[in-house]
Formats: sequence, C-alpha cells, structure tokens
Amino acid sequence: MDISTIALHAGYEPGNGEPRALPIYQSTTFPYDSTDEIASLFDLTSAGHFYSRLSNPTCEATEKKIAALEGGVGALLTSSGQAANFVAIMNVASAGDHIISSSAIYGGTVNLLSVTLKRFGVECSFVSPRATKEEILAEVRPNTMCIFGETVANPALAVLDLETYADAAHEAGVPLIIDNTFPTPALCRPFEWGADIVTHSTTKYIDGHALTVGGVIVDSGKFDWAAPKLADGSPRFASLVTPDESYHGLTYTEAFGEAAYITKARVQLIRDLGCYQSAAVAFILNESLETLPLRMARHVENAQRVAEWLEAHPKVARVNYPGLPSIPDYDLAQKYLPQGSCGVISVVFEGGREQAAKVLDSFEFISQEVHVADSITCALHPATSTHRQLTDEQLMASGVEPGLVRLSCGLESADDIIADLDQALATI
Ligand SMILES: *Cc1c(COP(=O)(O)O)cnc(C)c1O
Repeated sequence: MDISTIALHAGYEPGNGEPRALPIYQSTTFPYDSTDEIASLFDLTSAGHFYSRLSNPTCEATEKKIAALEGGVGALLTSSGQAANFVAIMNVASAGDHIISSSAIYGGTVNLLSVTLKRFGVECSFVSPRATKEEILAEVRPNTMCIFGETVANPALAVLDLETYADAAHEAGVPLIIDNTFPTPALCRPFEWGADIVTHSTTKYIDGHALTVGGVIVDSGKFDWAAPKLADGSPRFASLVTPDESYHGLTYTEAFGEAAYITKARVQLIRDLGCYQSAAVAFILNESLETLPLRMARHVENAQRVAEWLEAHPKVARVNYPGLPSIPDYDLAQKYLPQGSCGVISVVFEGGREQAAKVLDSFEFISQEVHVADSITCALHPATSTHRQLTDEQLMASGVEPGLVRLSCGLESADDIIADLDQALATI
C-alpha cells in the first residue's frame, strides 16, 4: 500500500461497534483476574498491558502505525526525541563502550553524545557526514557498538550518505541508527538504504502542530545481533544474546526473534528509566500521522519555492536547502530524497546580525520561535537566540553566520510566505 493509505489505516483496527477513532486509554493500569496471569506478564512469557510506564493500548496502536510507515518490525514511543536517541544508543552501549556519530546532527544530540554519554562511560567519535567508508572504519574500535547520524541534519541540512554509513556499520559489525526527524517516513525510509534502527523527535513533523514533545524508536528487525564477535570470540551484543538476570535468565534474541532489540529497549530501559510516552500524546500523534504524507508534500513544495525565491533575492547572501541544485549535497538529496527533504531552509541575509534581526522583527505572520517543522511558518535567528552569547568571530568559527536565519516553511500558501518575506526584506 501507498504511504498515504498506511498513514490512515495502520495500527488501529476497530471491531464491530467499536470507536472509529483510536480511544485514549487514560489508565495507569490494566487488571487481571489471576496471579498466574500477572506473573506470566512479568516473566514476559505472555504479552499484555499492565502498567502504562511500559505499554498502553493507545501508545501501542500509534507505535504500530509508525513501524508500518518506516517498514520496521516494531516501534517504541518515548517522552521526547532526546529520550529516543538516548535509549536507542544505550540499548546497545554500556559504560566502557564507544560509538561513532556524524558530526552534522542536532545540537541537543551533540550535547547528549559528547557530554552526557561520556559521564555514563560511553565515548563518541565524530566523523564528517561526507566521510568515506574507509574514513568511518578508521574510527572503529574493538568496543564500538553503533554508528549514528541524521538523514537531514538539523539545522545544518547536510544530507547523510546513508548507504556509505550503512556499509561501514555492517563491515564493522554494528547497527546504523538514523534520526529521521526531518524527512519523516513520508519522504525517506532509511531501512530501505541499510539503516537498522530509526529514531524521531515526534515533536517536529510527526506531531506537526506544535502540540506535544515526544519521540519514537523503530526497529528494522534486520540486524543479526548474534553474529558480531569481540576479539576473544564472545558476542559483541552480549546484552541481547545472553540471559538477562532481571527477567530470570531470558535471552532477548531467543524469546523475541527479530523484535529482540525493540523489546529489550522497552522492558529494560523504559522500565528502568521511565521515559515512556503518555496515551494522550500518542493519541495526538496518531491523528497527526493520518495527514503526514499530505503535509510533507506541501512543506517541501513550499520550501522549494521559497528557497528558489530567496536565492534570487539581492539582499540574500546564501541559501541552503537540499532541493537547490547550487548546493554540494544536491546529488545526495536527489538520491535519498527524490520527493523532497523537509520544509526547513537556512538563509544568510546581507548585513549580519542587526539586519537579520530586523527582518525577523518585521514579519507579519511568520512566527519567531524556538521550534521547527511545524504547520505554521516559523523562523529563528541563532545569533540573537540560541547562540546569543557568542561574538561574531565565535559564531563564524561554529559555522553559524551572524546573518543566518533558520526558516521552517509551514502549510500556508507559498505566495503568502514569500509576500511576508518580501515586505520584511524591504526594511533592510
Ligand atoms: C528536536 C530534535 C531532537 C530532540 O527532540 P525533542 O523532542 O526536542 O527532545 C532530536 N533530533 C532532531 C533531529 C531534532 O530535530
């Protein structure tokens, strides 16, 4: 089926006389009438909901829909995109381990990987999103447990060479984890290019209406956790292929087959860390997902027109958008994102910090906010917000020019977005 049909039909299938809309199962717990039944749920020998820190029927339906959209065998909702990436990585890495990441990733994830994971004893090496397979493999250590990257980086908009990253990961015997937040499965399904695990900040396009913070992890079910070995011949992913004492010696790959990774993430990390998504949030995501393919088509149509218009404007120094033939990543975007990449554009206005701020302050409906990937067009000027403590020289060194603005094209008419930009640019 086409992605637009999957978005409407996957996950929830009401029976006769049941609600047409996925209900919000607003309940912390789910009773059973025997101790044996509850015991078997705790032993993971039977499946069922019992406490909404681990699973919930509303969340489960939404997880099934997202898994179907990405082409995976299972999904796990989390309380945020940050939680999704943390759990996705820590499901395979432990203190003393090492991971590799593309350097073109979301700022919050840079912090997670380079500062917080380090405190947990996991070290991260960063490589260029354009690294060759040999360059990536040169960073692999005996204790490397995964490789991480973003399909389209927030905010750099670099397009990851998914096949090269997947080849390197598989040659090293580790999974490739891809944060697919910006394209969403409507525009790119990383499993089709060799990724093993996909994550999202659902806060962005999957929600799409600036309502809820959330995240999700999706398992392709394709990675063979038993095959990779350490130098001494023992399994590299021992936590997946040897008994878990917290479940009376259950082995995830034996008990759950291709869903071993995603089941372990739920019953071990989500159980212990408590960062599951709430039913009310999952309900909203399920509704939003129904229109995801439709919305993404409009986001990229608008962004393409706006990017082309900006590129031709005399007061614009530079535009970065993966759909522009003038940019270095255009070829990669054509390969991996033929239907478009996302609605986010970065643009450098002539005149630096003050002029860029003046443009933003002159918008009529374009909203200034610390958010992207929303139904409403919004803009953020890093030099006066997220990066305001930096001098112009420090900004240039971190790759964020003083005149740079991140513009997230919403679902309004492209003519109206361009008209608002036009009148705002007339003020400088
Ligand atoms: C926003 C974002 C995150 C973090 O997600 P939250 O839902 O804000 O925790 C992670 N990755 C990418 C690519 C993002 O854009």
